Amino acid sequence: MSSSTANFAAHETKWGSSNPRLRTIRLNVDLVKKPAECLDYVFMHELLHFLVPDHSALFVGAMDEMMPNWRVIRQTLNDAPLSYGELYRCGPSLIEIAKDRRLRR
Ligand SMILES: [Zn+2]
Repeated sequence: MSSSTANFAAHETKWGSSNPRLRTIRLNVDLVKKPAECLDYVFMHELLHFLVPDHSALFVGAMDEMMPNWRVIRQTLNDAPLSYGELYRCGPSLIEIAKDRRLRR
């Protein structure tokens, strides 16, 4: 018997991860603050790892076919600043640094 689950969980730096053996996908809760296509992209990326474990040409080709604009979406995520929630898990002192930087902008 096999089952697949997708959970929303707190991640330090990654937007998502998958465990093909356990058939589970974990998604960063902060994805809900991003455009819906970002969630689609991360979910698709992690789901594809059930079939292709690495980021080989096969993986990239499949992503290109399923979601031709995935590179643009990935760039959007890479450009996104850390949220307070992510920083809080790293340590309260980092929140003060982030607030200080925002005040100076
Ligand atoms: Zn990957």
